[in-house]
Amino acid sequence: MSSLRLTVLGSGTSMGVPSLGCECRVCRSADPLDKRTRASVLLSYKDGDIQRNVVIDTTPDFRTQALREDVRRLDAVLLTHGHADHILGLDDIRPYNFKQRGEIPVHGARDTLATLVRTFSYIFESNDGLSTVPCIQLKEIAGPFDLFGLRVTPVPAMHGPMPVLGFRFGRAAYLTDFSGIPRESMPLLENLDVLILDALRHTPHPMHSTVAQSLELVAALRPARAWFTHIAHDLPHAETNAALPAHVRLTHDGLTLDVARDVHQGHQGHQGHETPAGGTA
Ligand SMILES: [Zn+2]
Ligand SMILES: [Zn+2]
Ligand SMILES: [Zn+2]
Repeated sequence: MSSLRLTVLGSGTSMGVPSLGCECRVCRSADPLDKRTRASVLLSYKDGDIQRNVVIDTTPDFRTQALREDVRRLDAVLLTHGHADHILGLDDIRPYNFKQRGEIPVHGARDTLATLVRTFSYIFESNDGLSTVPCIQLKEIAGPFDLFGLRVTPVPAMHGPMPVLGFRFGRAAYLTDFSGIPRESMPLLENLDVLILDALRHTPHPMHSTVAQSLELVAALRPARAWFTHIAHDLPHAETNAALPAHVRLTHDGLTLDVARDVHQGHQGHQGHETPAGGTA
């Protein structure tokens, strides 16, 4: 069984943690696990002899994250939605264009790609050839698709009034920036070993799921392990983890999780066991 490695590139909310100028105890914490760059994950998996690297979202911290994790090639970008904290690092893919001598596909829903074209208009305008721009190929997501041998299933969700996409691959799913999951999407999130999902803070927010709301969703979906992401400065890492059920944890920047890549028939009856599965905490 081939596996898929997920690396949490960033676990923070749109402003990152610490938040500039903030003097709260989480922003001033000495615990490195309280430092959160903007939310993104890296998927690494074998495609024949080639090790593929795919990122979900290119955050304003993308360059720093890719340096930190020593990402030597980039095969594709998947976009969840067009908010600034998920796309603004796109310009920093240029070194991979040079090294790989080619375009990098960017997959997203139609609205997201339209936002990208508006926000990065210079990429799509004819240029003088004197300055470099990212070399990308826009790929509209219209349903499940194959990405270098990995089956990717988009999971529609709502982020306040805005439609967004989560993604499922094998027995893992990543669902950042949501406030609600439509009924039709729930079956796409069953039988998971790993569910990474938005849990901004305790206080309600019109665009994001809270810790309590995400715990309810975890109880309904029953993944073996759930990991919260897109975390605000309201949640101290160690203290929040200590109050969560054993199978639910906050992600942190640099967390890695190895998951089964192939979807097998038959559910193994997961119901929140207490063995930490994978994950270099
Ligand atoms: Zn966000
Ligand atoms: Zn703060
Ligand atoms: Zn957002």
